[in-house]
Amino acid sequence: MKELSDIGLVGLAVMGENLILNMASKGFTVTAYNRSAEKVEKFIEGRAKGKTIRGAFSIEELVSSLAAPRKIMLMVKAGQAVDDMIEQLIPHLDKGDIIIDGGNTHFPDSNRRTKYLESKGLLYIGTGVSGGEEGALTGPSIMPGGSTAAWSAVKDIFQSISAKVEDGTPCCDWVGEDGAGHFVKMVHNGIEYGDMQLICEAYQIMKELLGLSADEMHEVFKDWNEGELDSYLIEITRDILAFKEDGEPLVEKILDTAGQKGTGKWTAVSALEEGVPLTLIGEAVFARCLSAQKDERVAASKILSGPKPAFEGDKKAFIEDIRQALLASKIVSYAQGYVLMREAAKASGWDLNYGGIALMWRGGCIIRSTFLNKIKDAFDRNPELTNLLVDDYFVEKMMAAQAGWRRVVATAAMNGVPTPTLTSALSYFDGYRHARLPANLLQAQRDYFGAHTYERIDRERGEFFHTNWTGRG
Ligand code: NAP
Repeated sequence: MKELSDIGLVGLAVMGENLILNMASKGFTVTAYNRSAEKVEKFIEGRAKGKTIRGAFSIEELVSSLAAPRKIMLMVKAGQAVDDMIEQLIPHLDKGDIIIDGGNTHFPDSNRRTKYLESKGLLYIGTGVSGGEEGALTGPSIMPGGSTAAWSAVKDIFQSISAKVEDGTPCCDWVGEDGAGHFVKMVHNGIEYGDMQLICEAYQIMKELLGLSADEMHEVFKDWNEGELDSYLIEITRDILAFKEDGEPLVEKILDTAGQKGTGKWTAVSALEEGVPLTLIGEAVFARCLSAQKDERVAASKILSGPKPAFEGDKKAFIEDIRQALLASKIVSYAQGYVLMREAAKASGWDLNYGGIALMWRGGCIIRSTFLNKIKDAFDRNPELTNLLVDDYFVEKMMAAQAGWRRVVATAAMNGVPTPTLTSALSYFDGYRHARLPANLLQAQRDYFGAHTYERIDRERGEFFHTNWTGRG
């Protein structure tokens, strides 16, 4: 073991321990520290035994065990615990030392902390780490942002421990300044909400409308996972549907109320603040909220009735329509997520590498999929692309998918099967491809009741008009 450690890690819960083991497996020497000392002892005597990992039982011991510039990664509970640890570390650090927060931090906190630590002559990295505990151990997707000067010092460690795509490219690259890393991780989580809800809607349509069994749906997802929808979430859905308890599919015994930790909500709120129509992720968050109103829904189901789902067409053809609907909606979701990143980058002065972000999500994380290569290709073709929907590859996909997509949304609506994300994605698509929307009427209404004025299509933009709509003085 080296005399001084390459990096220190604070927080020996699942994520911290697994990241340390991952770092040690790549040849780095790591110092492990935790607020409650007994966890350090247990880790050093247990999982860390025989590896290039040393324990520290005080902040002083942690700091003095590290090679310069010191790199200390926090994997503690997001929020106040991060600020508390930062305050404890500052008095012991020297100019140029680096504090890294790898927790699920809301990006404005990373904006604030980067500025604060830089004002003290220190460097700061706020990094998204995705892939859960398994990913932390075997190769997560890592999305670092913060003090750009810190990147060269941590690059080798982060890229070594991260997931890799087939050609060996690491799923980790510098995202941008301040909270850019945590922002991109937040959008990743929002997209994860969308992808999951889309799959759930496909499942509900197949189950309620087509009457497919869990085993039959397992086969459908298996088939989809071998094509362009190939992704971690389709793969685990395939496996979940095949999982039996006492001979019955376990999934059917699970209570239908979804939990959430808030990152999807942050993404939707951020979109509202930036004025970006992030409709699919918004609907995915609301779908979880509606699912949580279980008692109310049970009561309402006894009062409100709708059509009894009945399907009389070609099931096989309709399953292909559902696949097309899923693909087209997923393209819309990523298109919307990328627009949000572009607008936030403009507002914050970040220079985001959009193709690189797709590659970071390509492996290690929950939304990993082959589809992300196509996004990388689109930004390689045109780094200034305003919306994925107008990239040649995606135009072709949307044109091919839309007939089936419309059949799915219409049939689900006629049969009373809720499809909030599939439907909102189609509305966005139709809105985005309309050169003229009914906002002319909206502007007239605003001018009528509030004299908010309007522009005219037969005059120059920027010239504003007001009409006395009632003729009254
Ligand atoms: P966690 O349950 O979020 O946090 C537990 C750790 O935080 C313990 O080491 C605990 O120390 C420490 N801690 C709590 N309050 C503290 C304080 N005031 N001062 C110092 N240390 C404090 O752990 P986790 O699940 O491993 O997650 C770590 C971070 O990674 C979180 O931000 C989490 O959101 C994020 N994350 C988690 C996952 C996942 O799959 N779990 C995935 C991605 C990201 P004690 O032992 O002394 O209590």
